[in-house]
Amino acid sequence: MPALRSGVQCCVVTGNLSDLQERAGENESRYRNLNERIEPHNAAHVWVDPPMPDWVCECASTECMKPVRLTLAEYEAVRSEPTHFFVLPSEEHLSLAVERVVHQTERYWIVEKIGAAAEVSEELDPRSESSGPRASA
Ligand SMILES: [Zn+2]
Repeated sequence: MPALRSGVQCCVVTGNLSDLQERAGENESRYRNLNERIEPHNAAHVWVDPPMPDWVCECASTECMKPVRLTLAEYEAVRSEPTHFFVLPSEEHLSLAVERVVHQTERYWIVEKIGAAAEVSEELDPRSESSGPRASA
């Protein structure tokens, strides 16, 4: 893994589109894994006020980490598609080079990965049994 820490400049596009898509797919898959770890906690809690759990925005930014509200059922629906991720309902959280919006609500947008980002997303899908985490090349 490259040593990416806060303070490192981001958003400088130096590679080709495929590299960009792969990188975005890996970043978003990271937050997907984080949300997968949150889910048992969210599922165990009875949500009254606030009425639904917080998840972490799955946009391509490595510094976003903003809370997004989805019910468990909504979360499961997104997770059932390896190439689908949810982000906050704002264009700031979109990377149009690597994804397109497939569903919009007031609380979140669902995006679908395209190109290399979709391939990486499928490879890194924690719910796919046929593929583990990719070994560093
Ligand atoms: Zn975000």
